[in-house]
Order: sequence, then C-alpha cells, then structure tokens
Amino acid sequence: MRKMEEKILNEGKVLPGGILKVGSFLNQQIDTEFLKEMGKEIARLYENEEVDKILTIEASGIPVAVAAGMEMGVPVVFAKKHLTSNVDGAFYSADVHSFTRDEDYSVVVSIDFLLPGEKILLVDDFLANGQALNGLLSLVKQAGAEPAGVAVAIEKCFQGGGDEIRARGIRVEALGAIESMSDNEIVFRSEI
Ligand code: 5GP
Repeated sequence: MRKMEEKILNEGKVLPGGILKVGSFLNQQIDTEFLKEMGKEIARLYENEEVDKILTIEASGIPVAVAAGMEMGVPVVFAKKHLTSNVDGAFYSADVHSFTRDEDYSVVVSIDFLLPGEKILLVDDFLANGQALNGLLSLVKQAGAEPAGVAVAIEKCFQGGGDEIRARGIRVEALGAIESMSDNEIVFRSEI
C-alpha cells in the first residue's frame, strides 16, 4: 500500500534493536482518516475469502482490526494480555514472548467468542518474529476454528515471522512490508 510506505518514510523513526516507531499515526496518536483506508484495504484484500470474525490482540491491534471489521461487517474479538475479571468462565490461552518488551505474557480469550468452525482473520499492527500472531493462531486452533488469513499494518520481513506463517499455508498480507531498515534508509519489499 503506497500510502503506508509514504507514512512510514515521512513519520516513522527507526530505533536501536530493529524497532520502528510510528506513534504519530498508529501506536499512540491515530490518523483516523488513514485508519479508514487501512480498513478498506484489508477488506479489499480479503473480499474473496470467507471471514466470520476478526481476532486481534490488545492494545495496538485493536484500531486496525476494528477499522477492518467495520468495512467487512464482521465482529472483532481482542485477546487480552492478562486475565482480568472481564474474562470470566473458561478461556483459551497461549504464551507469547514480546519482541518490544523482551518479556513473556499470556494471551487469553473467552471460549464464548471463538467458536468451532468459524473462519477467523487475524489482524495486528506489526508482524516481526511472529510470536504474537502465533499466539493468536494457537487460540484459533484451540477453539476448533480456522484461520482465514493474517493482515498486518506493517511487516518487518527481515525478522522472518511472516514467512514462517506463510510456510504453514496461511495467507499473510501486509499493508507495508519492510525488507530492511537502518537509521537512514528503509527499504520496502517490492510487490510482485
Ligand atoms: P512479534 O510477536 O511478531 O515478534 O511482534 C509483534 C508485536 O510486537 C506487535 O503486536 C507489536 O505490538 C510489537 N512490535 C514488534 N515490532 C515492532 C516495531 O518495530 N514497532 C512497534 N511499534 N511495535 C512492534
């Protein structure tokens, strides 16, 4: 998505440790007009797939997932990173290692919101090593649901998580796909 590449080039900041900061439009302040476009683009990419529901992970995945869900007319479920009183009764859970914070956490979702046989589109803001999405894929599997595919705002291809998921036969789409990045250069994966 050309506009995503422009936003990353104009507003993104590369931090040490391979982290891209996009707080001005995605991770802290949200560019709501652009968010709408992200939702439309995800809906366009998956228009020929059967999608019953979108699953994301709190917190930064939620806006992108909701934008896509509104375009596609499907509900959005977000996995919680901590077991709270909002998750009562039985739940599915998976362990995830956080790339940005270098710590482990669990993702949990109530069994009421992922049903056997449902086709689930997984959405997140970033795809790096794939830990977060692998956690969500585990929740989908535990529920007996099926992944319809993955859509992320930004994939950092050089970390390999996206290709590992593709190698499992799951479709992965990124609105911006970064092949490499350094202080003074960001190179995008060219679309085939
Ligand atoms: P993964 O689990 O694929 O290694 O990392 C994905 C998760 O880590 C995303 O949910 C995102 O919140 C966070 N993340 C990974 N890399 C970056 C990055 O470069 N910038 C930001 N802002 N978040 C990232």
